[in-house]
Amino acid sequence: TQKKKMSLTGRVILGMVLGILTGFIIRSLFSEDSFVHEYIVNGLFEVGGAIFIASLKMLVVPLVFVSLVCGTSTLKDLSTLGRLGGKTLAFYLATTAIAITLALVMGNLFQPGAGADLSAATTFAAKEAPSLGQVIIGMFPTNPISSMANGNTLQIIVFAILFGIAISAAGEAGERIAGVFADLNEVIMKLVALLMHVAPFGVFFLMAKLFTGLGIDAIFNLFGYFLVLSCTLLIHGLVVYSSMLKIFSGLSPKIFLKKMEDAIMFAFSTASSNATIPITMETATKRLGVSNRIASFTVPLGATINMDGTAIMQGVATAFIAQAFNIDLTMSDYMAVILTATLASIGTAGVPGVGLIMLAMVLNQVGLPVEGIALIMGVDRLLDMIRTAVNITGDSCVTCIVAKSEGELDLTRYHNPHAGEKEE
Ligand code: ASP
Repeated sequence: TQKKKMSLTGRVILGMVLGILTGFIIRSLFSEDSFVHEYIVNGLFEVGGAIFIASLKMLVVPLVFVSLVCGTSTLKDLSTLGRLGGKTLAFYLATTAIAITLALVMGNLFQPGAGADLSAATTFAAKEAPSLGQVIIGMFPTNPISSMANGNTLQIIVFAILFGIAISAAGEAGERIAGVFADLNEVIMKLVALLMHVAPFGVFFLMAKLFTGLGIDAIFNLFGYFLVLSCTLLIHGLVVYSSMLKIFSGLSPKIFLKKMEDAIMFAFSTASSNATIPITMETATKRLGVSNRIASFTVPLGATINMDGTAIMQGVATAFIAQAFNIDLTMSDYMAVILTATLASIGTAGVPGVGLIMLAMVLNQVGLPVEGIALIMGVDRLLDMIRTAVNITGDSCVTCIVAKSEGELDLTRYHNPHAGEKEE
C-alpha cells in the first residue's frame, strides 16, 4: 500500500518552521560577509522567495477580473448587487472601526509608550490622507487596461462589475461571453492550485531569508509595544471574528479558523493581503463553501479596503507615540484617528509595509510627530506579517457572513473538514 502523503497545509507549515529555524541558525553561525550570506541567503533564498511572490502577484489581476466578471454576469437583477455591496461595505467598515477602537483602548489601558526611549528619532515624511471624495473618484478607471497594468484593485473591481452587468444584459452574445469567462475562471483557479504545490518551498525561502536578517533585539527594546499590539491582534482575530460569525450567521468559528490555516500562513509569509488574494479566494470557495459570486466580489474588495490588523496597528502605534512624546490626545483626536485610519485603509492597497505610510497620515492628522514612526519601524516587519494574517481573516469572516445571509454558502462544504483539501 502507498504511504499517505502529508497534506498541503502540513507541508506549508513544515516549510515555514524549517525556514525560520534555518534563518536563526545561519544568523548565529555565519557572519554577514560569509559565503553563506552571499550565495545562499542573498542568492538562493532571495531568488526563490522573489519568484514565489512574483507568481502569486501574477495571478491577482487576471483572477480578480475574470472571477468578478463571472460573478456579476450571472446576476439576475441589479438590486441584488446593491444589497450585496451595501452589506459588505457596512461589515467592512464596522470591523475596521471596532479594530481601531479596541486598539486605542488597549493602547491606553496598558500604556506601552510611557517612558519609551526616544533616541531613535529620525525624519519621516508624511503624505496627506486622501479625502473621501478623492477616494471615490479614484475608484473609477479612465483606462481599464492601465488599471490592470498598475494593479489598481478598486478600479478593476468597478470595471469588472460594469462589464459583468453588461454581459448579463446582452442576451445571446452575453451568454457566449459569459461561457468564455466561466471557462477562463476554471483555468485560472487551476493555476492557483498548481502554484500552491510549490508553496512549501516558496514559504521556506521567504522565511529563511527574513529570519536571517530580522533584528530580534529591536523587539526587546519595544517589548511593551510589541506585546500590546500582538495581543490586540490576537483578540481581534480570535474573539471578535468568532463572535461575529456566531452572532450573525450561527457558523462554527472553530471550523472557520481551521480552514483559514493555509491563507493565514500565506498572508504571514508574504505580508501582503493582495498577493494572498488567490489563496483567500480558493479557501473561501473551495474550503468554506462560499459561492464564487460572493467571494469574487468580497475578497478582492476586502484585500484593498478592509485592513483590520493594520487599523489595530494604527491605534496602538498612535497611543504609543503620544505616550512616548508625552502628548495628551483628546476625544476628538481619537475620533480623527478612527476616521483617518479607516479612510486611509480604503485608499491604500494591501501590500507589505503600507501600514507605516498610513500611520504617517494618521499622525499628521492629529498633530503627532511623524518621527515617532522611526521608533517602531525596527519591529514592523514581523508585526506586518501578523496583521496581514488578521486582515485576510477579517475579509474571509465577512465573506462568510455575507454569503450565509444571501443563501450563497454551501453548508455541507463548510462542515466537511476535507472539502477542497488537496492531498497528493
Ligand atoms: N501588509 C498589510 C497588508 O497587505 C498592510 C500593512 O499593514 O502594512 O494587508
